[in-house]
Amino acid sequence: MTIQEKILLNQYTTFRIGGPARFFCVAQNEDDLIEAIGFSKKKKIPFFILGGGSNILVSDVGFPGIVIKMEMKGVTYAEDGNDVRVTAAAGENWDSLVQATVDRGLFGFENLSLIPGTVGAAPVQNIGAYGSEIKDVIESVYVLDVLKDEYKTLKNSDCKFAYRTSLFKEEPGRYVVLSTTCILKKKGGLNIGYKDVQEYFSFKKIKEPTLKQVRDAVVEIRTRKLPDIREYGTAGSFFKNVIVSQTKAQELIAKYPEMIVHAVNDKKVKIPLAWILDHACGFRGVKKGNVGTYKNQALVLINYGNATAQEITDLAQKMVDTVYEKTGIEIFPEVEYVQ
Ligand SMILES: Cc1cc2nc3c(=O)[nH]c(=O)nc-3n(C[C@H](O)[C@H](O)[C@H](O)COP(=O)(O)OP(=O)(O)OC[C@H]3O[C@@H](n4cnc5c(N)ncnc54)[C@H](O)[C@@H]3O)c2cc1C
Repeated sequence: MTIQEKILLNQYTTFRIGGPARFFCVAQNEDDLIEAIGFSKKKKIPFFILGGGSNILVSDVGFPGIVIKMEMKGVTYAEDGNDVRVTAAAGENWDSLVQATVDRGLFGFENLSLIPGTVGAAPVQNIGAYGSEIKDVIESVYVLDVLKDEYKTLKNSDCKFAYRTSLFKEEPGRYVVLSTTCILKKKGGLNIGYKDVQEYFSFKKIKEPTLKQVRDAVVEIRTRKLPDIREYGTAGSFFKNVIVSQTKAQELIAKYPEMIVHAVNDKKVKIPLAWILDHACGFRGVKKGNVGTYKNQALVLINYGNATAQEITDLAQKMVDTVYEKTGIEIFPEVEYVQ
């Protein structure tokens, strides 16, 4: 494995932003990974595990340690009655895996279609979309525990999955995901209750969609709503949705009666941040200099030219401050800042 020096990270992030990594390498197998981590220990420098770079904002000065790009490949399928155990290596492209499983007629990944990035990153923030999360189908995650210097198979219940978070986010740098094993179904139910998906099928007059039609629906809805990463520099939704108490939600509904909220349980309510950014704060489609938000989605920040990480963080801070001023809600980034 070659360890390179001073490699610009903007070419490895979907934001197309980021200064140089002091060192950079590609891990194609476990030996490469061990060698790269050994290098970081010997040099007493930090390491950063990189997948597809679709959920990070790398600082303009870059990263002072070694960036390890995960490119381990391989997918296996093991049948067990109606269950099929799908084990995929960390460097596999997530959406190619979704496509392959739908092609095989396996139920479970279809709502998570078209999410950019790698398999290894998917459990890190517990990717979710259209009413599904990867935690719903994960059986186990095979990791290298860097702290204890050992390989481990973590069960779903060990992974502390919650909305856009997990054990891997809680203890950053400790676990490197090598592969994930998910249980998909040969005969399964479809989750088409999400508003956008329901509207899509009622418009198309399809009462009982097939698995493939659900994937096609999600792909079409996403393509309409979200920017194409081949065209725009972006990391998708920059902020997480907000979960507040019933009391806070009632206060906001009194101020913004058209806002539609979703009950999480009898105490907590999920507030649609995109709606607040758009209707209460006027942030949809703004553009100033090299940065702005997407014309169809105020949650999505865009690098419209040669934006710096500083310009993105300045806009993000302005959004945080405005939301607080208008609603009293504190919002937090989903995108991770790497420096
Ligand atoms: C247009 C667009 C739409 C998106 N839509 C969604 C969406 O609907 N739902 C959603 O949840 N996300 C969405 N995202 C965010 C992003 O695609 C996901 O978070 C994805 O899982 C990130 O994968 P990645 O390989 O690019 O990770 P990276 O950005 O490279 O890394 C993200 C984090 O994971 C860590 N990591 C990566 N690989 C490993 C590994 N093997 N082991 C341990 N840690 C690792 C990194 O160190 C970093 O902390 C979207 C992004 C874009 C650009």
